[in-house]
Amino acid sequence: MKFSDLGFEPQLQEGLDMMGFDKPTPVQEQAIPAILANKDMIACAQTGTGKTAAFVLPILNKLCSSQTKKINTIIVAPTRELALQIDRQIEGFSYFTNSSSFPIYGGGTGSDFDAQKKAIQNGADIIVCTPGRLMAHMKFKYFDPSGVKHFILDEADRMLDMGFHDDIMDIFKKLPKEKQTLLFSATMPPKIRDLAKTIL
Ligand code: AMP
Repeated sequence: MKFSDLGFEPQLQEGLDMMGFDKPTPVQEQAIPAILANKDMIACAQTGTGKTAAFVLPILNKLCSSQTKKINTIIVAPTRELALQIDRQIEGFSYFTNSSSFPIYGGGTGSDFDAQKKAIQNGADIIVCTPGRLMAHMKFKYFDPSGVKHFILDEADRMLDMGFHDDIMDIFKKLPKEKQTLLFSATMPPKIRDLAKTIL
């Protein structure tokens, strides 16, 4: 199979061509059609398998035809390094589309917080967040979750190991009921299966 067989919008396919992506990896081949069909999904995938593109590409494809001025997609990752890495991949793939993304993570200065607040107020299409900082912004009135259509947890097992279970549930409860939820995890211990049963 080739990426061109997946029927992506031309402006997204152009980004893939530019980045030299020709064939989908196994996780991409399985996940992309399910995500395009708006299904909730759990995927067992480790770093290096192409898991980031597996969820980023179908979301960007949907955004080609459904942009609003509200946050459309929330991606949650355990660390700022991973959040930045995901955001950079989105920037590459979305080069020829009109979609915008913004990384939201802790630490930094007051002006970093203000820049994050601005991106949220402007309705970035995708925000890539660490759980604590996302919770901090969600407490304020300017955070409008009403347009969120996709909620993605990356490296979910690592987030649970780091003690983020309650934060994830708090975030989940504040989002619209009608949305697509995707769970990516390197391992499938019972606590991940329990989380999947609750949120998928
Ligand atoms: P990930 O598992 O998402 O961390 O991706 C690992 C690396 O593989 C990243 O540098 C991606 O840019 C690259 N990659 C992912 N999917 C493909 C693909 N289908 N073809 C070529 N490179 C890819």
